[in-house]
Amino acid sequence: MQQNFSKGLQSGSVIAFPSAISPERHVGLHLALCPLYPGNYHTDTMLMTAEEHIALQALLLNEWVRGDTLDLEESALARCAGTSRAQWRVLKPFVAPVLADIADAIAEKKQALAAVVGERLPGRAWEIARSIVFARDDYACVYCGARDRSLHCDHVLALANGGSNAIENLATACAPCNAKKGAKSVLAGSRFA
Ligand SMILES: [Zn+2]
Repeated sequence: MQQNFSKGLQSGSVIAFPSAISPERHVGLHLALCPLYPGNYHTDTMLMTAEEHIALQALLLNEWVRGDTLDLEESALARCAGTSRAQWRVLKPFVAPVLADIADAIAEKKQALAAVVGERLPGRAWEIARSIVFARDDYACVYCGARDRSLHCDHVLALANGGSNAIENLATACAPCNAKKGAKSVLAGSRFA
């Protein structure tokens, strides 16, 4: 799978955003990625600065996609948070404990998604899974790279073929690629082929 959020490399004293959370998208950040937080995001993060929010959202995304975020060594963790190491040292005392508190809940939620096999998720759970997959795939079709089309969340192994709703089995697909793929598990020429 692509790991777009690992591209948020440090640059001087300016916060470098992971590509999944670019500055242009910052305005919509809370709306788009709040579902990643299995708790009351607004209450638990009320006192956070904008930089802390951005770092937390990037780390939450990593926790959903890869897990064990806080086991990363410091420089990898800083990259994952989209900050320099120096910036991460400042942010960590405020951000890491919040992530530590909800890491187990994220793992449980991931298992719950993966356990739904061969049928659609209920609306709310599907919204959450979809927002994670879109952010992970950097809001681009994984088959053709399009960003300027309406994007769908596609089951790589189709539900009809026993596919699950694990986020590893979900991919961002534009409408034409989604239609072309249909119930096939792979699309010729795609990175899943
Ligand atoms: Zn496409």
